Amino acid sequence: MDALDRINELKDILNKASIAYYVNDKPFMEDYEYDKLMNELIKLESENPELKTLDSPTNKIGGEVLSKFKKVTHEVKMASLSDAFSYDELVDFDRKVKEVAPGATYLCELKIDGLSVSLKYEKGILVLASTRGNGLVGEDITHNVKTIKSVPLRLTEDIDIEVRGEIFMPKKSFIKLNLEREENEEELFANCRNAAAGSVRQLDSKIAAKRNLDTFLYYTLDSSVKTQEEALLSMKKLGLKTNSLYKHAKNIKEVIDYIEDMAILRDRLEYDIDGIVIKVNEIELHDIIGETVKYPKWAIAYKFPPEEVRTKLIDIKYQVGRTGVITPVAIFKPVFVQGSLISKATLHNEDYVKEKDIHINDTVIIHKAGDVIPEVVGPVLDERKNDIIEFKMIDKCPCCGESLVRLEGEADYYCVNPNCKEKLVNGLIHFASKPAYDIDSLGEKVVKDLYELGYITDIPSIFRLGINYSELIKIPGYGEKSIDKLLESIEESKKNNLDRLLFGLGIRHVGSKVSKLICKKFLSMDNIMNAKYEDISSIPDCGDAIAKSVYDYMHNEYNIKLIESLKELGLNMEYNMGDIKVNYFTNKKCVLTGTLSSMGRSEAKALIESFGGSLSDSVSKKTDILILGENPGSKYDKAKQLGIYIMEEPEFLEKIK
Ligand code: NAD
Repeated sequence: MDALDRINELKDILNKASIAYYVNDKPFMEDYEYDKLMNELIKLESENPELKTLDSPTNKIGGEVLSKFKKVTHEVKMASLSDAFSYDELVDFDRKVKEVAPGATYLCELKIDGLSVSLKYEKGILVLASTRGNGLVGEDITHNVKTIKSVPLRLTEDIDIEVRGEIFMPKKSFIKLNLEREENEEELFANCRNAAAGSVRQLDSKIAAKRNLDTFLYYTLDSSVKTQEEALLSMKKLGLKTNSLYKHAKNIKEVIDYIEDMAILRDRLEYDIDGIVIKVNEIELHDIIGETVKYPKWAIAYKFPPEEVRTKLIDIKYQVGRTGVITPVAIFKPVFVQGSLISKATLHNEDYVKEKDIHINDTVIIHKAGDVIPEVVGPVLDERKNDIIEFKMIDKCPCCGESLVRLEGEADYYCVNPNCKEKLVNGLIHFASKPAYDIDSLGEKVVKDLYELGYITDIPSIFRLGINYSELIKIPGYGEKSIDKLLESIEESKKNNLDRLLFGLGIRHVGSKVSKLICKKFLSMDNIMNAKYEDISSIPDCGDAIAKSVYDYMHNEYNIKLIESLKELGLNMEYNMGDIKVNYFTNKKCVLTGTLSSMGRSEAKALIESFGGSLSDSVSKKTDILILGENPGSKYDKAKQLGIYIMEEPEFLEKIK
């Protein structure tokens, strides 16, 4: 392939990866792969300068600006940083700096793996927060940034100032968020950076508020500060959060010492860092050293190499999940990856193992995806010997021996035996777990113990445990006190709201969010059981797969009996809407056109919402009611065309009472 073809190919891949990373917050390649391709492009362009075009990704900062946000033009460009992947590159950087600024020293800071933000304060009050965007134009994310606890809404001084820094998600919050998403069968975030970016670029600030985001500020547009160190200290004085783990290094050797120290500390930090940023400390030298279109020449980001370790894949085992899904799991010789000992990692499904060409007895590369979840990157082909054993997906359940089923269009195999032990136990653990039916004292170990002893066999048996009281208190390690507590929490749990029960049943595709939506729509278990397929699929966010799954579940004889037993055992089967009063507007999608004489739009909206309905801006097939005010607009014609119920103001006032 000649240089032009390769350059075009690289541009295409890098542009696609950038959109996935910056715009959709869903990268499809690892950062180090992206950096490798970017470096190849930089090298090819420098060897063939006539082939370098203005639109090359080597000239671009960040990604596109999403139109769902208000655009913000940065008065001073928000630049990116050039990267160094080796100490040699740092020595080279130092040499170039010293050529023009021999007296330069360096301030080394942690490179926080989040997304950059600009904060504008006027008279000490936060007035604007924006993303970097493409460096010149960013997105207005003020509504979300205001929910971040470490961002002061008011500075300690009433000054006008713009500061910049990083928004990030602490490691613990990231793990918690992904666990919740897993429970809800939502797509997982690849790493802390994507989770932070995905949270900040939401229209609904309630989402960002829940995600426990944090900030470190590292740059000020205050022209009175003389050094980068002073900049950090002055921002701290203003009440902004800065990172204190920086070091003032007099020369490049001290920079490298700091990098080595921080590489060791990295694991123990509560937030992710992906490198070290080295900046010339003396700000007056910045202009002398200058900048390129994309980067300042007075700073550089040293990126940590991805920690990858090699180990031997000893076996591939299989797990049966609560829905019966079979997951191949790689079992390898235990290795330390970034501070933790790891001996297994999910291989997801048959296609994944085949695509990666993984065999038993291969030497494999393990790393932590997003530095958190261990992942098998692939085999080391050079080290492959002839003792490898080809992977062959099992066709019988490893637990009960039932033939496995692969549904059309799906990558997973399922055990469909309702009595499969592993599936049952995992289903029971799920039922009692906190996000589901939340039975205090009935954790994983207790479920397993009581299952093994035959006291818990299915969900109804949990609620009949009391009849075995005299036997239960004799189980070694349990005793009267703990059994009393267990039975009490089981009894107490019967009052739980219906969405917890629905989620606990473990219906495929029904996570806790979907359970709530379904309960909100149907209000009782009986209504859900009698719901038509179309009624379920008409719920916003419930697609065909969910509707089919719920409908099939509710029409299966075994499940009908199970729910009837739970009713008899006294479990709550009604959905309590909390503060919401149920009336005609509950679950109705309304649209208002024209002006109401009795109230404004926001009042009408609040009233409808207080009954659990919604008021949206445009008419669609899903609209239930068009509320007709004076001087209606085109929504009226559209609603008539679609045959939507038209409600005039007197009827609206009557029904809203
Ligand atoms: P960068 O991550 O290489 O570094 C610049 C950024 O570092 C700054 O904009 C700032 O947000 C941040 N930063 C953190 N701590 C800082 C500190 N103390 N001082 C100054 N800045 C600090 O550059 P980038 O332009 O944000 O992103 C490019 C990188 O993103 C690539 O090198 C690649 O690793 C990754 N990327 C990955 C993909 C993918 O598909 N995986 C796609 C595009 C980009």
